[in-house]
Amino acid sequence: MSGFRTLDDVAVAGLRVLVRVDLNVPIQDGEAADLIRIERVAPTILELSDKGARVILLAHLGRPKGERNPEMSLKPVARAVQKVVGRPVAFASDCVGDAAEKEAAKLGNGDILLLENTRFHAGEEKNDPKLAKEMAALGDLFVNDAFSCSHRAHVSTEGLSKHLEAVAGRCMQAELEALERALSNPERPAAALVGGAKVSTKLDVLDNLTGKVDMLIIGGAMANTFLLAMGKQIGKSLAEPDLVATAQRIMTTAKSNGCEIVLPVDAVVASALEADVETETVDIDSMPEDRMILDVGRRSIAEVIARLGECRTLMWNGPMGAFEVPPFDKATVEIARAAAELTKKGTLLSVAGGGDTGRALNHAGVTDGFSYVSTAGGAFLEWIEGKTLPGVAALQD
Ligand code: ADP
Ligand code: MG
Repeated sequence: MSGFRTLDDVAVAGLRVLVRVDLNVPIQDGEAADLIRIERVAPTILELSDKGARVILLAHLGRPKGERNPEMSLKPVARAVQKVVGRPVAFASDCVGDAAEKEAAKLGNGDILLLENTRFHAGEEKNDPKLAKEMAALGDLFVNDAFSCSHRAHVSTEGLSKHLEAVAGRCMQAELEALERALSNPERPAAALVGGAKVSTKLDVLDNLTGKVDMLIIGGAMANTFLLAMGKQIGKSLAEPDLVATAQRIMTTAKSNGCEIVLPVDAVVASALEADVETETVDIDSMPEDRMILDVGRRSIAEVIARLGECRTLMWNGPMGAFEVPPFDKATVEIARAAAELTKKGTLLSVAGGGDTGRALNHAGVTDGFSYVSTAGGAFLEWIEGKTLPGVAALQD
């Protein structure tokens, strides 16, 4: 995808602007416990407010399954948004109907209003045309700033675009630009690093990437299935033997696409995945029968870092080892820091995403050192699977 509309393409002064944001934050003791998602969309909210729009925020919280549930009210989130943007944020107790209309009618230019959880209505997740029409009537323009929700065709991510002009907010724009630079049109050589637990959860990711990048570095437990496919012994390591044929097919496809597959040459092994367990680094060809691979070894780390030094672009999803349990975080941390160094030097564009990947990069202290770290889980994976995201398609020229 390329060529999507942004806030640069519209005049917003005086307009009622419906802005879909991701405010799905943890609530503890009636307060928003994490402000990162709010901080990410604050620039869009402030820009619209500064330009004199009447800003009407739409979001969901949790999984209320189409019913009102006071525990999943966005009311505490309205207070948190107010704190982050430093301006008053009004709240309406519903996202359509009288309550929403009444609050929306009170807005002056530059004012901000958050509507109640869109998922209190069953029509939201069904993309019900009636609900879309009703919600769209509250606004004159639709801004989607929730990339992380845009793999779903819901009323607030896609349905509204059938009634209103739809453009990307700044957070969505940054995400799309980073993903495009890393995958749609990367500077070459381009590498992808895929790790994590299972091949089965990332089949489409692997398939798509072998057609896009010059080098596919495979780590994590996922590498074990590939090692099996190459006829190696992997002891007690986590693997998916029934996917050996799939792994072979992926390697064959990669080869015919000119995509080199880089697998570990050594591994850190132990008898169990436990802290303080005795560890040993072994060559991949001399794997002890009673041990499991829990991280890639230091020769592999050095090789991956050297290869990244030759690359211009890196797309990373999935940790290299069982990073939650030190010392099996070593490869992930060292490679992440090396990628951040190369990014700082200006030779590498580094983009990463995925739930555990985000946590792993935080743990390595390099979230700010990467060119872009996506906070989207499912939407990010679907993007690197090469799928069209309905909420993103609606923004295309
Ligand atoms: P993401 O959420 O970023 O897409 P995944 O969910 O695919 O990543 O994988 C993350 C999980 O993979 C982590 O919990 C990590 O402990 C596990 N993992 C990585 N390498 C290994 C390994 N060698 N053995 C066991 N688990 C591993
Ligand atoms: Mg995960």
